[in-house]
Order: sequence, then structure tokens, then C-alpha cells
Amino acid sequence: MRILVVEDEPDLRRSLARSLADAQFAVDESGDGEDALFRALEVDYDAIVLDLMLPLKPGEAVLEGIRRAGRTTPVLLLTARDTIADRVRGLNHGADDYLTKPFVIDELIARLRALIRRAQQQPWPVVTIGSLRIDLVQRRVYRDDVEVPLTGREFGILEQLVRHRGRILTRTMLSEHLYNDASEVMSNAIDVHVAAIRRKLGAGLIETRRGQGYLIDA
Ligand code: CA
Repeated sequence: MRILVVEDEPDLRRSLARSLADAQFAVDESGDGEDALFRALEVDYDAIVLDLMLPLKPGEAVLEGIRRAGRTTPVLLLTARDTIADRVRGLNHGADDYLTKPFVIDELIARLRALIRRAQQQPWPVVTIGSLRIDLVQRRVYRDDVEVPLTGREFGILEQLVRHRGRILTRTMLSEHLYNDASEVMSNAIDVHVAAIRRKLGAGLIETRRGQGYLIDA
């Protein structure tokens, strides 16, 4: 899943980006409001972490620009201010959640996952396909109640296909949600991971559409 982190304080931005990358998110960073709005409209992010006090364009204006363009990307606001009026203003501008600095990174990650889940209209984080049970929060897969260990990348691919069941996802779409710089990824990397998933979970789960990509049938 791809996240945009907008924060002008470089140390905080980098530490956020690093923690999110450790949690298997692909992360883009932005340090000012204008750049953030440009990126938010250019890239199909799964969620945006947005600081309110930013140079060039305040967070509220970035948020408003995103919503005016008709984008429903989940946005989690970060702020140093914590008054009822600030919260109400943020939510009125179309924010989905709100976190006051200082915060614990684990809470930010939990809230981001909840926002993404809600946005993708899968409130129940466990998906069952045949004898497989895929827990999207714990990031674990079970076959007949026995856990099948997947690597982070393998789970990431499975997750995208499960979240978009019935839709074909191209290799590019899958790479963009997995890697910080998809252009540096070997062209067959996705195929290699898919082959590993099939070895572990069975050949029938993920279908190949020649020349298009992969899907899990709805
Ligand atoms: Ca700031």
C-alpha cells in the first residue's frame, strides 16, 4: 500500500517514512503544501498523512484541494494544536482522522490501516477464500487453521489482489503498491513472488491473464 507523508519537519518526516516502510508500506515524502497537493492528485495513494502547519500551502488548503478534485483518498491529519475548534475544522475540511503530536507510531499505523480498510469497504479484516483465511490486520494467512508463512512482499501482493477481488491488477499496479521506487524493481520480480505464493497456497488461487496481469476471482 502506498502512502504519502506530508511533514515539513525533516527529522519527523524521515522517521515516519522509515517506520511506515518497516511496516511494509511504500512511502513517498513531501515537505510543503504545494508539492503535497501536486503529488496527491498525481498518484493514487492508499492514504495520506498530512501535517496541518506547512510552508507554501497550509494542510487545510491541501485537503480542500484534494476533496475539490473529487478524490476520496483517506487523509489522517497531524497537528501540534489540540483544540476542539481545530479538530472540527479539520474534519469539516474532509479529514478522515486526526492525531495530535506527539504520537506513538504504532497508533498512527493502526489508524492508517483502519482508514484504508474503511475506504476499501472491507470493515471485516479477515477474508476467507476456500480453505484459506487471510487476516489483513495481523498480516497472516492460514490454511485449515494452520499458518502458512509468507514474506512481507508476498503478503503485500496477496493483499492487493484480495482487496480488489475480481479485478485484474497489472504488474505495474502491484509494484507501485509494494516498492518505493518501482522503476528499480526487476521486471520479473512480481512474477517471482506470485510463483512463491502459488507454491505455498496452491496454484489455483491467483489467475494469470496473459499480457494483462493477475487476479483472484470474486
Ligand atoms: Ca509542520
